[in-house]
Amino acid sequence: MEQIFEQSPSAALKHRYDYCAGCGHGVTIRLLAEVIDELALRERTVGVLGVGCYSTSPVTFDFDCQLALHGRAPAMATAVKRLLPDRLVFTFQGDGDMAAIGTTEIIHAATRGENFTALLLNNANFGETGGHLAPTTVLGQRTPSSPQGRDALEHGYPTRLTEMLALLDGANYVARVAVNKPANVLRAKAAIKKAFKAQMAGPGFSMVEVLSACPSGWRLTPVEAHSWIEEVQTKTYPLGVLKDATS
Ligand code: SF4
Repeated sequence: MEQIFEQSPSAALKHRYDYCAGCGHGVTIRLLAEVIDELALRERTVGVLGVGCYSTSPVTFDFDCQLALHGRAPAMATAVKRLLPDRLVFTFQGDGDMAAIGTTEIIHAATRGENFTALLLNNANFGETGGHLAPTTVLGQRTPSSPQGRDALEHGYPTRLTEMLALLDGANYVARVAVNKPANVLRAKAAIKKAFKAQMAGPGFSMVEVLSACPSGWRLTPVEAHSWIEEVQTKTYPLGVLKDATS
């Protein structure tokens, strides 16, 4: 019989890579897994996934995960954390999931000060469904549904959800990072670790937005995509800690 897998099928699935070349999701997933192991929380972690290219990440993760309806991960994370308060609970959502269909969910979860961590992957488009305009698409950015570039009069302004959430009293740690170059990757890991520690010290809502390259949606090479984050995306979405009320 022909041997399809060098490893067992389940082991091969654990090590598969689901993303386009240069996508930032794989780096972010690696950081998440590293932080959870460094905090020795693997057996006490529940990830709640939104709908996007990253929704297959539970195949890679070695901890409990739930897949939520589109935009509804904050509601599910609220329930999980309230029922199991000793767990590390995080949502993993794209900008389409959190900043479009799920905007209401995340705002009210942060307003209530729900004690989970929201991770937002911002790649400035709906990557999974072809790269069309998202609330986070920056002005001038060309997409299949804004072929002349995003225009404020026609499409509105980019949604800076993280700035909005940082204003809410229920949020105690809010940061924006990028995974486009080694120094930023290290900062991203530190921010995710700080948010998780803040959650476990509780109470309070924590959030980390990750600027994540989408070379396929942006019609750029991986190298161009990572430069675009630096040269264009960070002008609308500056990096840094927006709120730290943890001390
Ligand atoms: S479409 Fe974009 S977000 Fe999705 S896997 Fe490809 S590069 Fe990543």
